Amino acid sequence: MKFLRRSFFAVLAFLILLSGCSRSNAPVSAGAVSSDDSYPYYHDLNIIDDNYRTYYEIFVGSFYDSDGDGMGDLNGVTQKLDYLNDGKGGGLGVTGIWLMPVMPSPSYHKYDVTDYYNIDPAYGTMDDFKNLVAECHKRGIKLIIDYELNHTSSQNPWFQAATDYIVKNPEDPTACPYFSYYNFTKGKPATGNYYRVGNTNWYYEAEFTSDMPDLNLDSSTVRDEIQKFTDFWLAAGVDGFRLDAALHFYGAVGASDTTKNIAFLNWFSDYCKTIKPDVYIVGEVWGNASTIAQYYQSDATSFFNFPFSQKDGFIADVLNRTGLFTSAQAYAKELYGWQLMMQSNNGKAIDAVFLGNHDTDRAAEYFSGDELKTKMAAGMYLTMGGNAFIYYGEEIGMTGGGKDENKRRPMLWSVSDTAGMTNGPAGMTSPSYLYDALDQQIQESDSIYHYYQMAVRLRNENPEIARGTLEILSDISDPDLYAVRKSYNGSQLILVYNISESAKTLELGKSQYGYSGLRGYLSANGEAVGLSGDELQLPPMSIAVLK
Ligand code: CA
Repeated sequence: MKFLRRSFFAVLAFLILLSGCSRSNAPVSAGAVSSDDSYPYYHDLNIIDDNYRTYYEIFVGSFYDSDGDGMGDLNGVTQKLDYLNDGKGGGLGVTGIWLMPVMPSPSYHKYDVTDYYNIDPAYGTMDDFKNLVAECHKRGIKLIIDYELNHTSSQNPWFQAATDYIVKNPEDPTACPYFSYYNFTKGKPATGNYYRVGNTNWYYEAEFTSDMPDLNLDSSTVRDEIQKFTDFWLAAGVDGFRLDAALHFYGAVGASDTTKNIAFLNWFSDYCKTIKPDVYIVGEVWGNASTIAQYYQSDATSFFNFPFSQKDGFIADVLNRTGLFTSAQAYAKELYGWQLMMQSNNGKAIDAVFLGNHDTDRAAEYFSGDELKTKMAAGMYLTMGGNAFIYYGEEIGMTGGGKDENKRRPMLWSVSDTAGMTNGPAGMTSPSYLYDALDQQIQESDSIYHYYQMAVRLRNENPEIARGTLEILSDISDPDLYAVRKSYNGSQLILVYNISESAKTLELGKSQYGYSGLRGYLSANGEAVGLSGDELQLPPMSIAVLK
């Protein structure tokens, strides 16, 4: 499939050359953030300093290399902060960063930690980290770090000490202070993933891989250790944590102990709040809507919204007209139902929406090179409530799927300028990108990059988008349109979505629906959204914001 697709685009590129048509002849987008465009709906930024944010997820090793060794590093992230948000209204506009694991680890992905008090030397030093935190905070960016509490590396000194002791004292290893840190059992249990310690009759639990032994989270000494290193990272200035594998804290994979997981999340969240009352905690519970909703009973702030993300998730489904949805209204009902499910468990729930992350195929893969759908999917999730998480490179439509290394390829800053370009993980295959590198897209007013920038800008201009209580405008009958009202702090926005490839008009009485005019819009093909009297004109794949 990939070979065919590459061939198709090579032929297409050749035909475009032959025809003399180039990107510079493309219609200028009215939605681009640049000084010379005709978009007349800019408003002042209205960024509230709370836990509602637009986050950017970074795999540090593939982002930006500051010292020329081919490995992305923390100083590289610091150097590119102005690209993300310069603190003066420029850049992509994100207001939060999630760093994938940065602590010392033997693996390229670093989800298996050997030292909870340091930075992996490939990425830099603690001083580099503290400098990054300070530079983020100068720009109004919150920084959260990936946190691995479910398991350590098998090379972690705790595990090494425990297994060394077991090998030497197989009759009774319980005197070893680290024995209780992991789930060691005599004899292999019938369920769960257990691996043998040397030639002994002792086994340890490792639900993911044998290199990642599960911590015994019931152990009070393990909990003391977690509190100690959490003190350390909060003192270093982090604003919160992304909790890896929160579905698997207790119980085997496929047999999670929800009650104990929620109790642990409460213990951890409540501890963090004693030190930093506004700490932001987002958990990875990779499950269906009813599973995720249960975890909102805990004191953690957010859980990633897996049902709306991914290739077979609700957003891709409704745009591709596959799966559950035959109409825009059916999708809108799901939006509303999800809000109810979350809030019935926690009135303070903050959704954590995204399209793709480091574990999923990249979002541009969901739409087979259809640029309009790729943009529209972004507009749909970036106008959802809660926090939105953009995966690095998604804002330029980077591709990648299949093996994990291919989902974590070098950020495509440029194809001509090698400054800061990283080598990417060993084992990744060469990319065949569908869309231009960032430096090109910045020049193209109708690029995916400028679409993302505008969508983030709308979030930053309109606090109702992230924080508003959602209602569906249920009297819209066109199966390609849906509309929602968001109410926050006495202010209301209406967002109207045209998810079809055709232009649409919609009568929406100003007095009946309680708005006075067009506040802004997102348009995938660059054509302007218009409002004449009460008639809204929606180009294909567009979103109107009314207030
Ligand atoms: Ca480097």
